[in-house]
Amino acid sequence: MEYEPVIGLEVHAQLLTASKIFCGCSTQFGAEPNHNTCPVCMGLPGVLPVLNKRVVEYALKTALATHCRIAAHSRWARKNYFYPDLPKGYQISMYELPIAEHGYLDVPLHNHIDQTDQTKRVRLTRIHMEEDAGKNIHDARGDASLVDLNRTGVPLLEIVSEPDIRSPEEAGAYLRTLRSLLRYLEVCDGNMDEGSLRCDANVSIRPRGSAEFGTRTEIKNVNSFRAVEKAIQYEIDRQIQATQAGETIVQETRLWDAEREVTRSMRSKEFAHDYRYFPDPDLLPLVVDDSWVTELKTSLPELPADRQERFVRDYDLPAYDAEVLTAHKEVAEYYEQAVRAHPTDPKAMSNWVMDSVLRALKDDKLDLHISRWPCPPEHLAQLVSLIHDGKISGKIAKTVFDDMHESGQPPEAIIQAKGLWQVSDADTLDAQIDQVMADNPDKVAAYRGGKQKLLGFFVGQIMRAMEGKANPQLLNQRLKKKLDS
Ligand code: ADP
Ligand code: MG
Ligand code: ZN
Repeated sequence: MEYEPVIGLEVHAQLLTASKIFCGCSTQFGAEPNHNTCPVCMGLPGVLPVLNKRVVEYALKTALATHCRIAAHSRWARKNYFYPDLPKGYQISMYELPIAEHGYLDVPLHNHIDQTDQTKRVRLTRIHMEEDAGKNIHDARGDASLVDLNRTGVPLLEIVSEPDIRSPEEAGAYLRTLRSLLRYLEVCDGNMDEGSLRCDANVSIRPRGSAEFGTRTEIKNVNSFRAVEKAIQYEIDRQIQATQAGETIVQETRLWDAEREVTRSMRSKEFAHDYRYFPDPDLLPLVVDDSWVTELKTSLPELPADRQERFVRDYDLPAYDAEVLTAHKEVAEYYEQAVRAHPTDPKAMSNWVMDSVLRALKDDKLDLHISRWPCPPEHLAQLVSLIHDGKISGKIAKTVFDDMHESGQPPEAIIQAKGLWQVSDADTLDAQIDQVMADNPDKVAAYRGGKQKLLGFFVGQIMRAMEGKANPQLLNQRLKKKLDS
């Protein structure tokens, strides 16, 4: 029996507001524990929540960018449970009337094996706003757990997908696309390792071709893109094995253990929460008026999917290049600035950004703040222009780039200082060719006797003698002429 995985993701995105959702406390990450707190977010009796308008604005922007239907009326609900990081005993969330529903995200999928590009549409069930809980730090002193309420009341968006995802890779691609979108909108920084983007994965399997869904498990604690893909793959394998062994899958929450790379049962349905949702009597129903939505719609920036299309159209790039270049706003801007400075070779520029720039940033663990990159786009443009004009070879350019990235110097200064200009002077080349031919009379004879393959040997020798700086076309042309004469 062949099985097909069915996956739905619930993503929590921490919103980039300066203050919390229902009080004026700062949302700053990394503050002294319990420093960013007040009676409201500590849940003291007698206080009332006041909604932060910016949170609604960010939710609406995200809803618009994901083609959701926006509710004119939505409602806050209390989700009741007991845990020490939740001092009120309930989380303010949205339940039966969320702010947005029925959206979708078009996820680009690239097949590296046959180099084909596809788009997969993943439907979004709903988007709603809620407050975050605090953080428990266990075993900090061996015998105690500590509670930090700085995160309590930090605004979150919960973005729930339909079970449309069919593989771990698709789940990863969905998450990357979503993160990219949230960053373009400037509503969430998307740092999974700081917890500002969190993901719960719901996974089930069914016989391929079956129309019904199997019983799902929900995997929590997946804190990186790799972890999401690995945890889902593990869970698919586990469910298939269990099913084949005649066991039934139970609906449960499982925790991903990143160290041992397994999922473990956390709580089964038996212990499932009854959250006793009810409308929050302290908050008015949320009414969003059309003119605000219209205003926000016109203020949306160019989004990744549109930018991708434009890159294909304007720069004649393959879809894959456009996808990689636009995945990060900063990279897309870098690329465009470089192309503006040297518009002749957009595809060559794309190769440089994808291969060299992105690799260098990754190796140096540099973040995406363009202003902190050692090699500004103008310098890259100069480099590509020098290759275009035959002033340096592509091979030399790689070493020049490494230097540019390290020193921040413009390419010409480096080429000048290191004497790397390409030699296109016929007399100089001829002298080198004569020398190498004189040093290898047997090879010259063999070439002239029909071993044409030896051309590469001569090119290699001359290039080595000239430290790679000979103009390759001119060298080939002059060398052939001399050997054939
Ligand atoms: P809950 O509120 O218990 O988390 P939801 O109905 O909101 O349940 O679903 C949560 C997530 O589970 C959604 O992302 C949905 O797509 C996904 N999901 C629902 N059924 C299945 C299934 N059979 N297999 C995989 N994922 C599923
Ligand atoms: Mg859930
Ligand atoms: Zn507060």
